[in-house]
Amino acid sequence: MPRPAAPADAGLSRPGDPLVDTHGRVHRDLRISLTDRCSLRCTYCMPEQGNEWLAKSSILTVDEIVDVARIAAADGVSTFRLTGGEPLLRTDIVDVVRRLAALRTPDGRPVDIAMTTNGIRLRELLPGLADAGLRRLNISIDTLRRDRFRDLTRRDRLDDVLDGIAAAAASGLRPLKLNAVAMRDVNDDELVELVEFAVAHGAQMRFIEQMPLDAGHTWDRATMVTQDEILAALSERWNLTPVPGRAGAPAARWFLDGGPHTVGVIASVTAPFCGDCDRLRLTADGQLRNCLFSTTEYDLLPILRGSADGARDEGVDRMLRSCIHGKLPGHAINDPAFLQPARGMNAIGG
Ligand code: SAM
Ligand code: SF4
Repeated sequence: MPRPAAPADAGLSRPGDPLVDTHGRVHRDLRISLTDRCSLRCTYCMPEQGNEWLAKSSILTVDEIVDVARIAAADGVSTFRLTGGEPLLRTDIVDVVRRLAALRTPDGRPVDIAMTTNGIRLRELLPGLADAGLRRLNISIDTLRRDRFRDLTRRDRLDDVLDGIAAAAASGLRPLKLNAVAMRDVNDDELVELVEFAVAHGAQMRFIEQMPLDAGHTWDRATMVTQDEILAALSERWNLTPVPGRAGAPAARWFLDGGPHTVGVIASVTAPFCGDCDRLRLTADGQLRNCLFSTTEYDLLPILRGSADGARDEGVDRMLRSCIHGKLPGHAINDPAFLQPARGMNAIGG
């Protein structure tokens, strides 16, 4: 992975200024990966065996995560999404949420804390998470069929995931979103069923186009299920009309039979939304990334662990600005010269 040189002052804005890149995009959303470990082994994300786990000593502590988030919040980042790997595997997850939820934006508003999870252990943890300040949940569920779930995730845990979704549905956390990666000959005959399941749970179903982020590097542009195919399958059951006002959201949404229920599609491959991207990422081992598909990372660990207090805040801020400054106008998945990042999705943070 190429490492950029230490950021120079030239061209970078100052602490407290919004994080604006050279294409005018203001960054307000930080995705924080809490671990690369997971209770599942989804084929499109992780290998079955032989994963090279991040060294435990390199994993950011709660204090380090909160320090980066505090500095980002002072620069106008207002949404923090916890992900992984599986964020609920962190034994200190409630503490992470509680301390992040105490942060404020420069105008004094509470920040928004969200999480993307596979739902396992959610029932037991949800009361504590909600009390700590978690506001929104996205839960991943690619199939409702046990045999498929086992093949796809290499673990027989569908009941645990369904239990987590039921707990989330019964909680007050809204909007509740369910995510499925649409895969040919795996779950593409289940799309209508998944939407009906989501609606029955007061949730919004969102289908994700499969992206070239699998550890096995087996992604194939020619066989992936596209947004057009997803919409065609759903149109056989519902009349779909676009929901206006997408802003920077990854999912484009459609009303089902005029609403109020909606379905979303995250079409990173066939309809990229990079022009409105307001996201940056922090990996569990302290690397800042300006894009899921970037092959460059900005290492915060030496700053977090090697600088004196004042210099530390300034160093993190400069690295945030350097990361944003280096952001390209868009990913290049569709470019023949595209190079898949070395890390799998579980180590980047989805
Ligand atoms: N373990 C949690 C989960 O599964 O929700 C959080 C991390 S996971 C990496 C975040 C999201 O990325 C999930 O919704 C997952 O389906 C999605 N994802 C993982 N690999 C993907 C790929 N190759 N293409 C598209 N989405 C992917
Ligand atoms: Fe784990 Fe989420 Fe990756 Fe599946 S998609 S292996 S649940 S990190």
